Amino acid sequence: MNTQKKVAFYTLGCKLNFSETSTIARDFTKEGFERVDFKEYADIYVINTCSVTDNADKKFKTIVKQAQKVNPDAFVAAIGCYAQLKPTELADVNGVDLVLGATEKFKLTSYLNDLSKNEQGEVHACEIEDANFYVGSYSIGDRTRAFLKVQDGCDYKCTYCTIPLARGISRSATLENILQSAKEISVKGIKEIVLTGVNIGDYGKGEFGNKKHEHTFFKLVEALDNVAGIHRVRISSIEPNLLKDETIDFVANSDNFVPHFHIPLQSGSDTLLKLMKRRYLTETYINRVAKIKEVMPHACIGVDVIVGFPGETDEEFLTTYTLLSELDISYLHVFTYSERENTEAVKMGGVVPLAVRKKRSKMLRGLSVKKRRAFYESQLNSTRTVLFEDENKEGYIQGFTENYVKVKTPWNPELANTLHTVKLTKIDEDGLVRFEFITE
Ligand code: SF4
Repeated sequence: MNTQKKVAFYTLGCKLNFSETSTIARDFTKEGFERVDFKEYADIYVINTCSVTDNADKKFKTIVKQAQKVNPDAFVAAIGCYAQLKPTELADVNGVDLVLGATEKFKLTSYLNDLSKNEQGEVHACEIEDANFYVGSYSIGDRTRAFLKVQDGCDYKCTYCTIPLARGISRSATLENILQSAKEISVKGIKEIVLTGVNIGDYGKGEFGNKKHEHTFFKLVEALDNVAGIHRVRISSIEPNLLKDETIDFVANSDNFVPHFHIPLQSGSDTLLKLMKRRYLTETYINRVAKIKEVMPHACIGVDVIVGFPGETDEEFLTTYTLLSELDISYLHVFTYSERENTEAVKMGGVVPLAVRKKRSKMLRGLSVKKRRAFYESQLNSTRTVLFEDENKEGYIQGFTENYVKVKTPWNPELANTLHTVKLTKIDEDGLVRFEFITE
């Protein structure tokens, strides 16, 4: 293998994809490749695709063109969820040489003996049922915090979702391996870990290659609470029906787990939640928010919500809008429903016109701005801890408090990747929060 080769990566989608790209990139480095930025000249360009992104196909083609512009002779490989769902479609894209599905993506370096361009992209994808084994990953060096994969796949059947078709059944890393990865991350000087997966609340399922639940998500949280050198552990997205009281109480009393929860709601209407085959109704969701705010009034709560799902009448949408307005939550991630092949929802009646979907999305994004502002205002004059990022953004350095308030202060490289206690003072025009340092 020629070690002088240059490789560049482009990742679409979620934290899980970023953790996997970072792990695959480390395999390349181990084999003597030099990792370069995607904008630079490379011999190999790897695109880690996403199936949730709107216009995933258009986005993919643009990225391939971008790579070819820099080096028309470069070898282009596509991996990830979209590659698993539509392998031949990606292989037909001009310039693509290799497409690897869910079971092959971690073996990418073994497919690179011949880097000459292929007329037609070579496809190595499988039936998703074969993706029943677990491969660990975590991100390092790309950001201030590390995304640590703890679980993959999903056994739920939400009627709008293709992720189970792209990533397979629910399966988990062993607790031992997760703790080992957390230690590896901490020795690299990373202070915050973000737990990531597809349905992390289902952690423990398939830990030892069977359907049994060896450890629970709560056991994972308990075990990760005392990893030397890790100051913060952030739970990324977790299903409301899998966020147990014991986990919330534990986070409330933990020095390391941060008071920030991202909990998908999807709709504020029980009728739609049933059509979506979600595993809870609004009462459970309201109860989760109340429980969190009872034991952690300063906690940040983020909410995923879908607008324009088939059957969402004006009344249904208003029910969602009203519930979100009343809930003590901090921000929204708003997704506009889009039809996905091989899902139940695509066959449902009551299709919502695109213009209406867009209008509803705009309304909820407006509500999210108000919610975030109100949450930030509720935190002014409070004492928080900030983990600073490492980028000079227009003369400022930014960071996040433990409860996910975004702050900024004039650029000072010594602050990069450090933790400081501060008192939040005011909100700037750009919505970021200013503060005073509190000397210990
Ligand atoms: S829980 Fe539902 S929405 Fe989430 S990945 Fe699983 S099937 Fe998709």
